[in-house]
Amino acid sequence: MEEKKSAIDLTEETARRWLHERGVEIEDIGELVFYLQEKYVPNLKMEDCLENVERVLSKREVQNAILTGIQLDILAEKKQLGEPLQSIIETDESLYGVDEILAFSIVNIYGSIGFTNYGYIDKQKPGILVKLNEKGTGQCHTFLDDLVGAIAAAASSRLAHRAANTE
Ligand SMILES: [Mg+2]
Repeated sequence: MEEKKSAIDLTEETARRWLHERGVEIEDIGELVFYLQEKYVPNLKMEDCLENVERVLSKREVQNAILTGIQLDILAEKKQLGEPLQSIIETDESLYGVDEILAFSIVNIYGSIGFTNYGYIDKQKPGILVKLNEKGTGQCHTFLDDLVGAIAAAASSRLAHRAANTE
């Protein structure tokens, strides 16, 4: 039991640390949630956005997706993947699509409104997503940009459902 608990803590702690180390702060994701929801939720507060991001990040399946995606980004950056996967992930080949499928596993948790939010944010690319999509930096964020968009979309859905239920 002890051992099981510490493995869970390690997953959450590592997922949060890797986000930070890859240049993404909770506040960055909170800003995306604010961007998505300010039109729909009257008197929206940043603290509510951050609270919903925290709740999404505390889910095990979200942490697993983060660890898996960021690990692949890091290995691609170090050129340690086998071909053809190395080239596909390194160049963020648009037909690859597994980065999006992994992100859907996060969006999925909070229902269909999450997909609308995810599609919107993926097209608009506000805030931190611009930075993550910069090319020629030597960094690879093929998975991370979709993960961050998905966490924001999921947190937005959670926030919207709660706002609707308290009206
Ligand atoms: Mg991507």
